[in-house]
Amino acid sequence: MHPSFVACDFESCYQCCLETRMPLLQEDIERIEKKGFPADTFSEKDGDFIVLKNRNGACVFLKKSQCTIYSFRPTGCRLYPLVFDIDQDKITIDLECPNKDAFKAYLENTTITDLLLDTVDRLIFERNARITEKNKKS
Ligand code: SF4
Repeated sequence: MHPSFVACDFESCYQCCLETRMPLLQEDIERIEKKGFPADTFSEKDGDFIVLKNRNGACVFLKKSQCTIYSFRPTGCRLYPLVFDIDQDKITIDLECPNKDAFKAYLENTTITDLLLDTVDRLIFERNARITEKNKKS
């Protein structure tokens, strides 16, 4: 496990992959595309963000309760259940994670929290660039 990522050892749990709205960085999309998955098969627009697609109520990459792209999964999946709560303007642990108490120590891990904040900044930067591009065309 890369030291910058959250280590989730609950192998039988895939709660976070159900009805996912995980936002994707451009680099996530390119990394997954390089493995042979065209972007339109796994990503879609959600407003001006790009998010993972679902099929039958779960992420398109979830098969037989397992992530089929685990080693190159999106950055947000690597950091979950740590998420950024926009309303509270802070990093928190997703209340929907059934094992949330096991991850509290990560809130004090600045390698992880810095990576999450950087990811949020980049997602917003990329979203804003899409808006600018859209406005130019209209
Ligand atoms: S990419 Fe993998 S870890 Fe992320 S939501 Fe999909 S199946 Fe789950």
